[in-house]
Amino acid sequence: MQKKVSFHTLGCKLNFSETSTIAREFTAKGFSRVNFGEDADVVVLNTCTVTGTADKKCRQAIKKAKKTSPNAFIAVTGCYAQAEADKIAEIPGVDVVLGMNEKFNLFQHIENFKKKEHAVVYSCETSDIENFDAAFSSGDRTRSFLKVQDGCDYPCTYCTIPSVRGKSRSGTVAEIIRQANEIAEKGFKEIILTGVNIGDFGKGTDETFFDLVKALDKINGIERYRISSIEPNLITDEIIEFTVKSNKFLPHFHIPLQSGSDKILKLMKRRYNTELFRSKIERINELISDVFLGIDVIVGFPGETDVDFMNTYQFLESLNISFLHVFSYSVRPGTPAEMMSGKVSAKEIKRRSNLLHQLSDRKHKVFYERFIGTEHKVLFEGAKHQNSMFGFTENYIKVEFPYNENLVNKIVDFQITGINEKGHAEGLIK
Ligand code: SF4
Repeated sequence: MQKKVSFHTLGCKLNFSETSTIAREFTAKGFSRVNFGEDADVVVLNTCTVTGTADKKCRQAIKKAKKTSPNAFIAVTGCYAQAEADKIAEIPGVDVVLGMNEKFNLFQHIENFKKKEHAVVYSCETSDIENFDAAFSSGDRTRSFLKVQDGCDYPCTYCTIPSVRGKSRSGTVAEIIRQANEIAEKGFKEIILTGVNIGDFGKGTDETFFDLVKALDKINGIERYRISSIEPNLITDEIIEFTVKSNKFLPHFHIPLQSGSDKILKLMKRRYNTELFRSKIERINELISDVFLGIDVIVGFPGETDVDFMNTYQFLESLNISFLHVFSYSVRPGTPAEMMSGKVSAKEIKRRSNLLHQLSDRKHKVFYERFIGTEHKVLFEGAKHQNSMFGFTENYIKVEFPYNENLVNKIVDFQITGINEKGHAEGLIK
């Protein structure tokens, strides 16, 4: 009888690429995949610990797995598993906890997926994490997340990622190119480069992120690349200029700012100030007029006064950007910020977060309206929502169009004629 396996992923694109890679091994070993929540023989949870809420969601997912697949073998891996292995092992129903170094070694540790009396933990100290495990997502979406880098050596005082994913490391250009060719052979047209600090690609080797970008640009079959997120101090002029010349690297950057107050950036131990950040944004806008700029910002960092917050607000308002990813500060155990004074109340964090979301909505609307009447190349995705399908332009405008199976995974010339009430672009195929 074919065994059934389900997966549930929390967190970032990197986690999705890794779950998808683990899933391919299960399929290759004859398992059939079912949706999380359906009864399965094995349930694999890939967890996240970037915020307190993420930890809570992981524990809830374990309970759901136990409830919906009472006899299933439950394996928990990912960042929360690396951070709190023993705690997770005590949760009833869990059979194995795999730390970061063991994430891809489930079959090496588990012969038969019979439930265990007590959960077993396979993990190691984060400082012992050495290897770079390649990964990419497939089958789940039209676009593939390709892991190019892992871990981080930066000292950001609010961040727990280095303590669970380990030091910065990456594959070689040749290895990533092999993966990208494999993705092309599977028929994907767009790749999103993902990692923890991808601009740090090649650290400790003679290869650089720019080398990787140039090599990927030459691959046949992949027509579009997006850089998922890159630190402001690592966006070099040559990367920006290359994006202008390349037909494949899209006019879309996602850049973490975190605060628009130099005082708070110092407390966060970020590697730039607002002057450098502004110069990068202006340089990109100067060279790439239709660029989509998504910016990460944290509200409520310890010590953030009303004045600091207003500095952040006015700084962001003054920038020509397209969208804000607003995060509420979440204290992480063991981070330097945990011991910092000047705690901001939950009520105040909420107020500040709402103000930045409103600012983001205004910027996003202005950005979309700029392109009414213009033509773009849209890659349509496979998912059907009621009678609609969706796709993205090069500069990350979300397009809604009546569902047509023949358009799935196709790049078509599209003229934007308006923005609908849901905030999606509409238009005509040319
Ligand atoms: S750059 Fe900073 S925020 Fe990003 S993963 Fe590294 S330590 Fe965390």
